Amino acid sequence: MVAVWLEGVPDGDPAYSDIRFKASWLKTPVKASEWNGRRVALIQATTSVSPNTYSVRALKIPKGADGKDLTAVEIPGTKVLIRIADRKFEQQVFSVSKELEAVRSADNLNTDAEKVAKAKANGSTVPVWEKAFTIPIPGEEAQSFGKQRIINGVLNYTHSGVDVSGSEGTPIHVPAAGIVVFSGPLIASGNTVILDHGLGMYSSLVHMSKTAATVGTRVKQGDVVGYVGATGFATGPHLHWTLTIRGNIVDPEYLMNHDPLAAIR
Ligand SMILES: [Zn+2]
Repeated sequence: MVAVWLEGVPDGDPAYSDIRFKASWLKTPVKASEWNGRRVALIQATTSVSPNTYSVRALKIPKGADGKDLTAVEIPGTKVLIRIADRKFEQQVFSVSKELEAVRSADNLNTDAEKVAKAKANGSTVPVWEKAFTIPIPGEEAQSFGKQRIINGVLNYTHSGVDVSGSEGTPIHVPAAGIVVFSGPLIASGNTVILDHGLGMYSSLVHMSKTAATVGTRVKQGDVVGYVGATGFATGPHLHWTLTIRGNIVDPEYLMNHDPLAAIR
């Protein structure tokens, strides 16, 4: 994931009212937000992107006399090259009971996904996080991002986040400032808190024994929003933390010693 921004955008010029960043590996250009006198966006690469050198460029979408969007125009001099490096993801093999396997059924995952999509529908268009992220359970590590999981002998899925060790009841801390957009039970995820960090980025903290957050409240880095448990599809107590950008899963590890907006705060 990278933050991209455009400097020196003329204020109040309608030709610049809609700026988007086009990353050559993404189908859809990403809408930029106005923030700190710049146009800024987060751009993600998922685990399925082939390693290569790609470009990112800024487009403006002018409006015609009737207010309708005209064709996107590249803003000269905005092209930057980005290298996406290779990364291998290990396999992880384990067996679970039929009862636990059924918790992760397609129906259950769909039911969860609908609730999550609703919670993430109206996110903050400006950054809410303020600095580099911290691990939600102090002293522990983020593990197992992207592992290919073979469950009961079948390659079932890519592990969608990181696991953090913790015994039942251990407090779970907010990794970076956010707005609580969901707090409650899901089926496969168990008791879950979802935080909106702004610019399309969300944390889901799942499998909690108990949530301790109120939807609509703003939480600070380090606040406790729940307690470790093994609810949903979990083989034992731990925290699972998924980080997404516009619904795409990214590795939160990168944010833990690096704030992508540090240079322009
Ligand atoms: Zn996990």
